[in-house]
Amino acid sequence: MKTVRHKADAVVVGSGPGGATVARALARAGRRVLLLEKGRHHARVGNHLSALSYTDRMGLRFTEEGLNIVRALTTGGSTILYCGAATEPPPWLQAKYGIDLEPHVRETINELGLHPLPDEVVGQGAMRILEAANDLGHRFEKLRKFIDPDRCRIRCGGTCMLGCPHGAKWTARDYVADMVAAGGKIINGADVRRVIIQDGAATGVLALTPRGRLEVEAEVVVVAAGGLGTPTILRRSGLDEAGVGMFLDPLVMVTGVSRHAGTSSGPPMSVGTYEFMEDEGILLSNLIDPWGLWLIMVARKNPARLGQFLSYRRQLGLMVKIGDELAGYVTPDGRVSKPLTRQDHDRLDRGAAVARRILIRAGCHPRSIIVGPVRGAHPGATARLGRVVDDNLQTRVANLFVSDASVLPQALDRPMVLTIIGLAKRLADHLLSTSFQSQV
Ligand SMILES: Cc1cc2nc3c(=O)[nH]c(=O)nc-3n(C[C@H](O)[C@H](O)[C@H](O)COP(=O)(O)OP(=O)(O)OC[C@H]3O[C@@H](n4cnc5c(N)ncnc54)[C@H](O)[C@@H]3O)c2cc1C
Repeated sequence: MKTVRHKADAVVVGSGPGGATVARALARAGRRVLLLEKGRHHARVGNHLSALSYTDRMGLRFTEEGLNIVRALTTGGSTILYCGAATEPPPWLQAKYGIDLEPHVRETINELGLHPLPDEVVGQGAMRILEAANDLGHRFEKLRKFIDPDRCRIRCGGTCMLGCPHGAKWTARDYVADMVAAGGKIINGADVRRVIIQDGAATGVLALTPRGRLEVEAEVVVVAAGGLGTPTILRRSGLDEAGVGMFLDPLVMVTGVSRHAGTSSGPPMSVGTYEFMEDEGILLSNLIDPWGLWLIMVARKNPARLGQFLSYRRQLGLMVKIGDELAGYVTPDGRVSKPLTRQDHDRLDRGAAVARRILIRAGCHPRSIIVGPVRGAHPGATARLGRVVDDNLQTRVANLFVSDASVLPQALDRPMVLTIIGLAKRLADHLLSTSFQSQV
């Protein structure tokens, strides 16, 4: 098999928010950066057909226990599919682990102009949920978003979760473009198999591409292949401490039929409450699956209710997402086990009961309410702080760092992208002040 060789100051594996952010910062500081991305660059995003092409196994990836896990394999990683909720890191990250992301998160909020959306963009369905929840004494609020309201076409409903075709949603592709403008390079279709380690130090990576083997030599290796991709690469490279225990942020959708415009009349996750987070690790936020996914999920758990599809546009939906306990594993060949604990089930049940009351108050008929199957969308902690990486996100191997959801020490119980960007910026600062000594 033909082998192509490259040299760089830093090789970054994976172009999600963790990888794109660190790659951009290093390229802007004048380092030669090569970003390797397993997925293709899918130019067309934003409909069911395109989403099938960049969603891992066309959305049909399951844990050994049958839990559906969704991730995107394309330039930008799962931000292509994410809802764009921009939540700040939890206070415990600093209090318990000494990681202060405040300056990096503040800089990101200012740079990208992250704010809650205006009421008219939030949409009628979400505003009715917010009012009903607060009538019941909850503390729902509009959430900060990675969405530019001026470019958002609110009527596309759940389409954010298929990819935004209007460019209204910030994705890690924006940072990849900045990296390329600063002189960095990206190679798509490069499936990194392992890190090359010599005398206890990382010296590069080995990847497979459709054209053959690719070997990259670099001073610094940053693995940012996501909560599932990173542990497989680390384990194949001899770091067996990775991939043991994980969180998945399990979630269920609770939906019901109302008489007015439903949740698809605006972007997902534009309102919600963090009131249950600190004590119970539960997040509630407006969300309904795009219609194709709605059909699949209802067919899986509530097939007798498929007829409710006719009232899809009048359905209100709430997502109940919980912070789960660490459990399970990821194997070197990518198999995932994630058993849910009693506490996880209790939290999901408690959240679903609250969601049900809110939907009824918002005008849904009690008999129309459906609780969907449990799913996981945010794998992490598979190369976590304290077990696989130290405070500087370095592994026990010199020059080998990790920059993605896998370094989080426990379930964040809230949307993670703003925290991942903050961690990646902090890592870039560390690398620029300690590595690349030959060029300073
Ligand atoms: C439907 C959905 C909605 C979500 N909504 C929100 C939200 O509103 N707000 C929020 O904050 N978060 C949300 N998330 C979660 C968020 O998208 C993820 O937490 C985030 O993208 C994780 O970033 P990452 O850098 O860790 O990994 P990823 O985004 O998964 O990026 C990893 C990248 O590495 C690549 N890769 C994997 N293996 C290899 C390999 N062997 N070689 C080379 N490249 C590889 C992948 O193709 C991918 O591009 C959502 C997720 C989903 C699925």
